[in-house]
Amino acid sequence: MINVTKSYLPDLEEYTQYLKGIWERVHLTNDGPLLRELEGQLKEFLGVKHLKYCTNGTVVLQMALKALNITKEVITTPFSYVATTNALLWEGCTPVFADVRPDDYCIDPDKIEPLITENTQAILATHVYGNACRIEQIQAIAEKYNLKVIYDAAHTFGATYNGKSILSYGDLSTCSFHATKVFHTVEGGCIVTNDDEMAEKLHFYRSFGHRNDDYYSIGINAKNSEFHAAMGLCVLPKVPDLIESRKQVFGWYNDRLNFGRITRPVLTPGVAYNYAYYPVVFDSEATLLRVMEALNAQHIVPRRYFYPSLNTLPFVVGHQPCPVSEDIALRVLCLPLYPGLPEEDVDRISAIVNEAIAVLSEPA
Ligand SMILES: *Cc1c(COP(=O)(O)O)cnc(C)c1O
Repeated sequence: MINVTKSYLPDLEEYTQYLKGIWERVHLTNDGPLLRELEGQLKEFLGVKHLKYCTNGTVVLQMALKALNITKEVITTPFSYVATTNALLWEGCTPVFADVRPDDYCIDPDKIEPLITENTQAILATHVYGNACRIEQIQAIAEKYNLKVIYDAAHTFGATYNGKSILSYGDLSTCSFHATKVFHTVEGGCIVTNDDEMAEKLHFYRSFGHRNDDYYSIGINAKNSEFHAAMGLCVLPKVPDLIESRKQVFGWYNDRLNFGRITRPVLTPGVAYNYAYYPVVFDSEATLLRVMEALNAQHIVPRRYFYPSLNTLPFVVGHQPCPVSEDIALRVLCLPLYPGLPEEDVDRISAIVNEAIAVLSEPA
């Protein structure tokens, strides 16, 4: 079976070496030495000032909203993973959906301004598939209306915009280190800021608000363990090679797929990509379903990602049409892409896709 992704696992010996240290120290969690080591290495790898390593890429979105005191309307993207909208709803905020750009499926800055009201406090946008949003335009709107900018940068690990990690933009930026992401710690995530005071606040938020024996503030339990940090320490040095291997697979698809009948998102100028996903957009949902069926019959499992468009979730209040996002969500499929996926498999997958789209286009 070929899945849409396959987690990289380090050499078991290497991981076991870290476990031995944990057994010696009997320090399993709570800001342990491996966690601190990983945070240091991540800051250096990404070139960011402050980074808090946490339990996942969802709780860090919640922490971001809480830390910036966002409780009212937030202009957000309908084209993301459900966690982006869930974080808003969980924190009692009102998601206001701005449609996405038809070429890269990131939030369309031109759609943001008309949605701003006196209750708008922030913009929460996702760098879709690891490609950067229109950062300058979003920043200009935020400054004009005094809004905060939070980026769900879950897909961007290892990708840069104008030479800097995409995680370094916005008031706060969050990443996921879930097993399916470019860099993973089994479960995990982080929140990034350039602001010293904000970093301190997030440090205490992560651990119940505890400051020594008193309390700095409210808090949550978003601490991650030494076992997760150890996985991160094993995987991080491999990231450049892992991205290189992804790039190779990516190139094989580019050479083989029939782009007469498939469209692909464009990269924002200035982005050095991390090859996180290989989304293809078909002419209709019917074609997508045909392709999926053909792949599944060969035990190949692509993923409808993102689907559905988040403005259509059953628990989102009110009808907020986003025609571009709704249309793309119906037609987009992520093909298997992971380091080490063999070229023969990309051959086979591409052939199945090309054949399935050719069949459909013939008159009935
Ligand atoms: C993976 C992902 C998340 C959630 O991250 P977890 O670590 O699984 O909680 C949030 N947003 C986007 C865009 C994601 O892809």
